[in-house]
Amino acid sequence: MASRLLSPAFANKQLAGLLLDQGFVAGLGTYLCAEILFFAKLHPKAKPSECSDKAIKRLAKTILGITQRSYRTQGITNPPARVRQLKNMGLRDKEEHRFSVYRREGLACYQCGSPIQRSNVGGRPMFHCPGCQRMVDERIL
Ligand SMILES: [Zn+2]
Repeated sequence: MASRLLSPAFANKQLAGLLLDQGFVAGLGTYLCAEILFFAKLHPKAKPSECSDKAIKRLAKTILGITQRSYRTQGITNPPARVRQLKNMGLRDKEEHRFSVYRREGLACYQCGSPIQRSNVGGRPMFHCPGCQRMVDERIL
């Protein structure tokens, strides 16, 4: 996965569009794309070529890890401990506790409290946390 991210065909594409490209990885829908980038701490507009080796490895692991978690949990991407915490806070409906950023625009990030932002990638909705997911030029990667 890491070498594929850095291959000439994909290295200079923005991550959000890249993860939605069925030629890169088949089957990642918009919710998985948004959640993967959140857990990898990468901004949707960052490109693999701008990422550190550490960030590429983290993203490669997260693409596989979040997809597998979602498969096991029937679409819940939040870690089990967070889901338990949110349920204890009264968020019992699956739609209220399953995601960290997807369809949560304007709500507080569970990690840092920043309001989740919504944007568009090729006409499809994208969601990210401006506090947790930084651009490369801010040297957080
Ligand atoms: Zn955050």
